[in-house]
Amino acid sequence: TKPLLQVEGLKKYFPIHSGVLAKQSGYVKAVDDVSFHVNEGETLGIVGESGCGKSTTGRMLMRLLEPTEGKVTFDGKELTSISNSEMRKARREIQMVFQDPYASLNPRHTVEKILMEPLKVHNIGDAKSRKKKVYDFLEIVGLSSYHAKRYPHQFSGGQRQRIGIARALMTNPKLIIADEPVSALDVSIQAQVLNLMQDLQKELKLTYIFIAHDLGVVRHISDRVGVMYLGRMAELATSESLYAEPFHPYTKALLSAVPVPDPGHQREQIILEGDIPSPSNPPTGCTFHTRCPYKMKACTSVVPKLEEVKPGHFVACHLYNELVQH
Ligand code: SF4
Ligand code: MG
Repeated sequence: TKPLLQVEGLKKYFPIHSGVLAKQSGYVKAVDDVSFHVNEGETLGIVGESGCGKSTTGRMLMRLLEPTEGKVTFDGKELTSISNSEMRKARREIQMVFQDPYASLNPRHTVEKILMEPLKVHNIGDAKSRKKKVYDFLEIVGLSSYHAKRYPHQFSGGQRQRIGIARALMTNPKLIIADEPVSALDVSIQAQVLNLMQDLQKELKLTYIFIAHDLGVVRHISDRVGVMYLGRMAELATSESLYAEPFHPYTKALLSAVPVPDPGHQREQIILEGDIPSPSNPPTGCTFHTRCPYKMKACTSVVPKLEEVKPGHFVACHLYNELVQH
């Protein structure tokens, strides 16, 4: 396997200059120096509470948001240095699935028109082949040709997400960035959509970035998982290693909320107090120090780097760095 996507030092700083904050100069560091790669054919889960920068990261990968700094390389091409028109072309290969399919599907368009749209935008095929493709993909995502003439409001939430997935697949992309694709769905429907996504991945040789706010959802779909906190990557490992042996206190806390299948293997329980601090005024040093039960002296001043603590298992925490004075 080779990396399909390589992300280096990605940052998104939003300047603060409005309302009550007018006198305060500075930035909201929504994403602050994030690096990772995604191998061809794998699923990378990215997990964190709202405001951790996971959606902002997802949107920067296809430049729906311009990064403040950093490099994104996709399939050998550096996306962060190409022109806007080249980027529009590159989006044929990278597509997004959104959390709320209802908000992202035009309510006045039939499903046929919605699915036809990306083919027109990217100039793929002629009228006849486009129509065939629409009908084929309705079947592929578990809907039928008779759904083609219906409007988004005539579908259930789960069916609408199937339409959102079909739309993302129309251009034969290599990479799908799914931003909380099942968070708005009932638990019983979540499993169906996750299974569909896994089947499609095998069939169509897709690579996924799967963004979620809890570790339970991404567990079975992800080959590797990255845990984000306040704009930074706290831990990044194979699913196996992360769920079996989490190192970062924040990951341990998130896992405390996920039921353990085998009660004989109780994990260390950490219940977090307080909310995520504001990203406009993040804590110094390790941004997790205001909520961390293991906080040490160095934590309030030194930013921990993401370091490999076990083959393929990376953690940004001073507890595992012998060079930092504890
Ligand atoms: Fe906790 Fe310090 Fe590790 Fe941050 S670096 S997670 S504050 S022990
Ligand atoms: Mg989000």
